[in-house]
Amino acid sequence: MSKSNPIITVIGSINMDMVTTTVRVPEQGETVMGECFRTMPGGKGANQAVAAARLGAEVHMIGRIGEDSFGKELQSHLKKQNVNVDGVEPVTDNHTGVATILLSERDNRIIVSAGANDDVTPDYVKRHSAIIDRSDMVIVQLEIPIETVECVTGYCYEKGIPIILNPAPAHPLPPAILDAVTYLTPNEKERDELEIDRVTYKKKLIITLGEKGVSYMTDEQVEEVIPGYKVEVVDTTGAGDTFNAALAVALGRQKKMKEAIQYANAAAALSVQQFGAQGGMPTDDEVRDFLE
Ligand code: ADP
Repeated sequence: MSKSNPIITVIGSINMDMVTTTVRVPEQGETVMGECFRTMPGGKGANQAVAAARLGAEVHMIGRIGEDSFGKELQSHLKKQNVNVDGVEPVTDNHTGVATILLSERDNRIIVSAGANDDVTPDYVKRHSAIIDRSDMVIVQLEIPIETVECVTGYCYEKGIPIILNPAPAHPLPPAILDAVTYLTPNEKERDELEIDRVTYKKKLIITLGEKGVSYMTDEQVEEVIPGYKVEVVDTTGAGDTFNAALAVALGRQKKMKEAIQYANAAAALSVQQFGAQGGMPTDDEVRDFLE
């Protein structure tokens, strides 16, 4: 049955991105004056949840935050973006995940401090399994413990719930995970770093190629590239997050793979036209208008 608002559960990271813009990043032992500082909601999990909600899905997030001001801010931000946060509980002994980002014209340096994201344990997710059971599609990334990813993919496999693993940031994946996932969505760099057997897993692989688009295997087992859309690029941060969310939403609406990828390509192309990971994430109407 086709649903316009499929139920999507995102299990993943919730971070505050702390972005300092500078003319140049400091050398060892040096202090430089920054140009501008801002905080922005981030984390691949939260980004994908917000993107899916904007596209009209009923989205449930399973993740963790600290009992600090960033945690409160991020939780209310998710709520405002129509993401259900019943599965987002604070931890008492860890800080909210943060990404410290230094941006200059030449350099882009990032330190991620996982904090409470490390407390998204298999037991924690199992406590919230009722949410997963009701889902049309589950999405997971690699900013939470790998044993949790293994537990979630195995659980979804057993229950017959389709699951997209966006293997970012790249991390070696055990066969148990590769066998259990329905779809695997690396970008080109992650595909190379994963060193997965592309013959064995070719049916599951959907590889994003930046502005070049997306490569996937058709039902006839032919590799096809669906080209990206030519747009004015402002900031490609979060392009992959929008792509994954839109793919989940379109597949949750029972679209065929090719059509789902075209929809996700369009959503991601719209997202790169504004600043910030969550800045340009489009609504369903915006994607449909763009595709017309
Ligand atoms: P990530 O953001 O995870 O590094 P990619 O760079 O492969 O992943 O981008 C994901 C998707 O976003 C692409 O498959 C494409 O649909 C879209 N995209 C990324 N960069 C551009 C661009 N410059 N122009 C148009 N679409 C883009």
